[in-house]
Amino acid sequence: MEKLEVLITEEQLRSGVAELAERINRDYNGEELLVVGILRGAFVFLADLVRRLTMPVVIDFVAVSSYGDDTQSSGVVRILKDLDESIAGRHVLLVEDIIDTGLTLKYLYENLKARHPASLKVCTLLDKPSRRRVDFNPDYAGFTIPDYFVVGYGLDCGQRYRNLPMVCVIRQEQEGCPPFAGGEQPR
Ligand code: 5GP
Ligand code: MG
Ligand code: MG
Repeated sequence: MEKLEVLITEEQLRSGVAELAERINRDYNGEELLVVGILRGAFVFLADLVRRLTMPVVIDFVAVSSYGDDTQSSGVVRILKDLDESIAGRHVLLVEDIIDTGLTLKYLYENLKARHPASLKVCTLLDKPSRRRVDFNPDYAGFTIPDYFVVGYGLDCGQRYRNLPMVCVIRQEQEGCPPFAGGEQPR
């Protein structure tokens, strides 16, 4: 772990997720919610979040890839796995691990909006607003962080570290990690 430095502890994650869930519970007031996780990074956050939701919940996933490396989104987003559910007329909450340039979510948001959900909101665990390249603001954000490359709690570096229970900053360049890995990266 010497190359990793803890940025957000397990305890901070727990209370941050609890606060988000409370706000969501209040806002939807018992209405059924279709929670859509963006694979792969959102899976840990989504698992913790949905266990604190009190309305009826249906869960689905979408997988996207973006051509470029993990620290520089190209804006060309491709859906690798689409939703299994139809979202027309339903309340949809898109759950993401981190918003960086905003390109991925802007694309997905517009793609899903065109399917006429009753409502569409976005909940992200982490937000890096200083890196934004398009105007996109989440409805719910757990933690705003500086321009660090972070791993853990679902977030990867070269597909590793997703299992860490806390969010860490990588302080040193590591082999197989972005920005060195190019090509089409699963998120
Ligand atoms: P963007 O908002 O730039 O389109 O892309 C967001 C995606 O880029 C995230 O879902 C995540 O996969 C990846 N990403 C952006 N910043 C980071 C980071 O600090 N750490 C990790 N592991 N992935 C990141
Ligand atoms: Mg993601
Ligand atoms: Mg990644």
